[in-house]
Amino acid sequence: MAKPVQVPPFDRGDALESLASEQFDVLVVGGGITGAGVALDAATRGLRTALVERDDFASGTSSKSSKLVHGGLRYLQQREVGLVYEGLAERQVALRNAPHLVRVLPFLIPVLTKDGVISRRLARALGGALWMYDLTGGLRIGKRHRRVSADQAVAHMQTLRADRVAGGYLYYDANTDDARLTLALCRTAAAHGAVVTNYSGVTSLRKNGDGRVRGAHVQADGNEVEVRADVVVNAAGVWTDDVRALDEPTHPHSIRPAKGIHITVPWGKVRNDIAVVVPVAKDRRSVFVVPWGDLTYVGTTDTDYEGPLDDPECTPDDVAYLLRALNAVIGEPVAEGDVLGTWAGLRPLLRTASNDRTADLSRRHAVRRSDSGLVTVTGGKLTTYRRMAADTVDEVDALLGKRRRCRTKRTKLLGAEGYETPPDTNEPSRHVHLAHRYGTEAVLVEALVDDDPALGEPLVPGLPYLKAEAVHAVRREMARTLDDVLTRRTRARLLARDDSAAAADDVAALVGRELGWDDAERARQVKEYRAAVAAERDAAELPETALESSLGT
Ligand code: FAD
Repeated sequence: MAKPVQVPPFDRGDALESLASEQFDVLVVGGGITGAGVALDAATRGLRTALVERDDFASGTSSKSSKLVHGGLRYLQQREVGLVYEGLAERQVALRNAPHLVRVLPFLIPVLTKDGVISRRLARALGGALWMYDLTGGLRIGKRHRRVSADQAVAHMQTLRADRVAGGYLYYDANTDDARLTLALCRTAAAHGAVVTNYSGVTSLRKNGDGRVRGAHVQADGNEVEVRADVVVNAAGVWTDDVRALDEPTHPHSIRPAKGIHITVPWGKVRNDIAVVVPVAKDRRSVFVVPWGDLTYVGTTDTDYEGPLDDPECTPDDVAYLLRALNAVIGEPVAEGDVLGTWAGLRPLLRTASNDRTADLSRRHAVRRSDSGLVTVTGGKLTTYRRMAADTVDEVDALLGKRRRCRTKRTKLLGAEGYETPPDTNEPSRHVHLAHRYGTEAVLVEALVDDDPALGEPLVPGLPYLKAEAVHAVRREMARTLDDVLTRRTRARLLARDDSAAAADDVAALVGRELGWDDAERARQVKEYRAAVAAERDAAELPETALESSLGT
């Protein structure tokens, strides 16, 4: 018999009612990892907290990252030792507080030869950097880096060109499902009393007679809700300047968006059992090649971006860049036609006076307060969300004239309390799949299947997600659209966009029953989802010439 778990409510209707009727200490604008972290920190300090997200939770950058919880080896090259130290300390906190969602991942850095020659200088520099990484906090994970032979390196990625591999280094970091981590933070904040809702966007700020920000006007379901709050936190990622513009008609453009994309390819094309760091020729950068079930994803790019902030596109050039990097180190090239999914995100980097390329800009964060009291948090990384939140809520407390201790270092996320890591197995297992996504709450999904065994069938043929997970997503995770279910509650679109589009009718029937959609709404949801998938595919499709060069022909 499964142990009963306490499930705190996460109901949008209730949240909207509370938003309209209550007085809050703090209102957080933005339901990415940053806003979700702020809401959890504020709620656990005892502040009456609300969070509003204009779209879905994590629909901005926080579902489109490389999904690494890490210090970032390359930031050592940039002499950002403090940032790496902070990232590695936070990695440990995340492994402890969300062990179901954040897991240790070994990385291989192959040492490659060039024209048959090993650069001893490069190999020594790599070894030195890894010692430094270990000493800056990498060792907290309980394992230190080590050298491996060429054969061992190739065993970890069987497609590597053995003639180019002279050896390698193994080191350890962690990874996560970014959208689910963000959702878990939102739900945990709600469990600590925060009022949290998606599809509720701030359209203007509420100011009192002396010009102080005292809440906001929020659009939800075609209605305007006036939310009263003593402090408003702007955690709107790359849209931060838009929210600042509601407060200060003139302000500097503080964000320099940097686009990064990823592609997924069948695992069989790469055959890596751990993550692999592949250098990009002539670009002083590397890309990660990360196994994800039956697939492998490759990323990322790092380019200045000046287009519209909503839905940045993967261009053919972006895809060609990643394929070129991968194909330079493997025997059998991966073709553009092998790409099963893509995603593009924008890093909300802090703009500086320098014209450095975005890859060289700092990933530090900053908290600032405007004259009218709007608190804005910008920059940072997925990994350091908790530290960003602590600094932000310290500023909120300062405005409220209080000093309360931050409690999130020891706050477990929902699903973590009593969680036991399932034993490693190479066999696909429903138990492990659910445990890694829901922790102790996996029993709730299992219970749906016990009640209706048809819900144990795959949601999208070929992917491990169950139909029960779509039902759970609506009942417990505030999913409102087909895209919420297929892109963020599950990651079907990232892993296999065409298969997810093919399954859209069936998924909409299932989700629509839960949400009370009529035929017209169901058809609209399917049409919208398929159009988004088609646009994503078309944007990334390579013209012939780029295709030839990415294949090295
Ligand atoms: P977002 O996730 O964009 O959230 C902002 C939210 O505000 C959005 O959901 C938006 O809808 C909402 N919003 C905007 N305006 C309003 C409004 N008026 N009312 C209500 N809501 C509003 N970091 C790592 O640590 N590890 C990695 O491996 C990593 N890889 C990355 C790879 C790429 C390609 C990119 C782009 C970033 C990566 N990062 C990584 C960085 C990390 O993903 C981001 O720093 C982080 O996700 C930013 O989160 P955020 O909450 O600040 O922004």
